[in-house]
Amino acid sequence: MRYDVVCIGSGLGGFTAAVRAARAGARVALVEKDDLGGSCLKNRLVPALLLSATAGLHRDFRDAPLGRGTSKCVIDLTAVENRKEKLWQELQNRLYALLERNRIDFYPGFGFVYTNTTVLVKQNGNELYLDTANIILACGSTPAAYIKETGERLAFISPEEAYALTDLPESMLVLGGNAEACSLASTFAELGVAVTLAVPGEFLPGMDRDLVTEMSDILLRQGVTILEGTVLREVRHCPGGWRCCLGEGINMMVTKIVNAHERWPRTTGMGLEALGITLGRRGEVLVNDRMETSVPGIYAVGEVTGTTVGAQGAAYQGEVAADHILGVPGYFDPDIVPLYLFTIPPAGSIGLTTEQAQARGYNVCTGKFAFRDTLGGCLRGHDDGLVKVVADHLTGRILGVHIIGRSASELLVNASLAVHLQVPVEKAYTGAGLVRGTMSEALMEAIADVRGQSIMV
Ligand SMILES: Cc1cc2nc3c(=O)[nH]c(=O)nc-3n(C[C@H](O)[C@H](O)[C@H](O)COP(=O)(O)OP(=O)(O)OC[C@H]3O[C@@H](n4cnc5c(N)ncnc54)[C@H](O)[C@@H]3O)c2cc1C
Repeated sequence: MRYDVVCIGSGLGGFTAAVRAARAGARVALVEKDDLGGSCLKNRLVPALLLSATAGLHRDFRDAPLGRGTSKCVIDLTAVENRKEKLWQELQNRLYALLERNRIDFYPGFGFVYTNTTVLVKQNGNELYLDTANIILACGSTPAAYIKETGERLAFISPEEAYALTDLPESMLVLGGNAEACSLASTFAELGVAVTLAVPGEFLPGMDRDLVTEMSDILLRQGVTILEGTVLREVRHCPGGWRCCLGEGINMMVTKIVNAHERWPRTTGMGLEALGITLGRRGEVLVNDRMETSVPGIYAVGEVTGTTVGAQGAAYQGEVAADHILGVPGYFDPDIVPLYLFTIPPAGSIGLTTEQAQARGYNVCTGKFAFRDTLGGCLRGHDDGLVKVVADHLTGRILGVHIIGRSASELLVNASLAVHLQVPVEKAYTGAGLVRGTMSEALMEAIADVRGQSIMV
């Protein structure tokens, strides 16, 4: 059997690429060594979402304006785990159906790039060679809770393992200052765990600084201790947990340490170096904005490329690779990939931050609106967070929208449209389109505020 495309890895990057190529008429095979749907479905994005949603519900119940103090709400992590398992089965079944509907051949097994036109699939001692015109590497990444070369466990657990805990630890040290580290810290703090966040480098890199300040305040209010510019120097196991020495003489005992700081692209043992595929310092596959590697006909998408663009970025890169193979013009534009945090409340960002827009030479103007000032926020008791709109003063074009607040995910979709379509604030704002009594008021008011026209400011 000769294929047009063989994708190795069935996470969001590989699966999206496979379906996109098949829908355009290509003959496609998908190779997966573990579970269909990748780590995202089984132990990453879905579990992260489920637990943060559960913790959010817990908070809503606790803080509901009409229900406060009426009874106690307890979270049963085993029930959450069971629901996750059920959800995973359902989502996986949907993916199997999609493979069938799109006539994609699925090969369980380890994919090895034998030549630039042959993928060797190894499973249980059996070997199968797939001939193909193009290969897409979508192998994801490995958590740094293990020693990369030997697979030996370190003192840390990975974010995946943290989201799968069925007993809440008393205390948790989260290493990292990225979106994943903040999501973990916020979720577990909300569940009653004493969380310390040790941020070795920049806190929330790539996020608008106003939102970083807001997020720090929210985490502090949740009870998270944030240690900025602090590295873990020493860990010693002792009864009941770990004795940690951080930064300049900070000592603490914690029950669990989660390393959300670092991941390694999954590229070892696949024959990539032998084929001359250029890898970066950390083993990531280097690609251009069409997702092409240094070897013609071989593409790479998602976390294997070392990018930190999340699930939506991996899927978008999969589309770009498939399109390029099929001759459809397009390229990967990191500016239009949203950044998303499953904190409580969540946060999301699309387009340029104030700092990025200024660095690109725009004469920046901004508008802001706090959720506590919306009728929707007041009614629901969701008063944390704000919307910030970054625009070009000259043209009014919306360059970026940054949101922390209960409805950040839904509002971000509207904001994405405005940024993608390069809409000026004058066109985006309509008083008539402002639905009072909803959280979306904050987005419209922030857009109006760019030109100083918000009635409510
Ligand atoms: C705890 C956690 C929370 C997260 N939360 C968010 C979030 O809130 N928002 C967000 O956008 N993103 C989030 N992410 C990131 C998101 O899950 C990833 O960016 C996304 O899943 C990456 O997709 P991928 O296709 O690159 O890799 P994956 O989904 O990891 O898929 C890679 C697949 O390739 C397979 N594979 C590897 N090597 C081979 C081989 N040689 N042969 C065959 N198969 C192979 C693996 O088994 C795996 O199934 C989170 C990640 C973690 C860890």
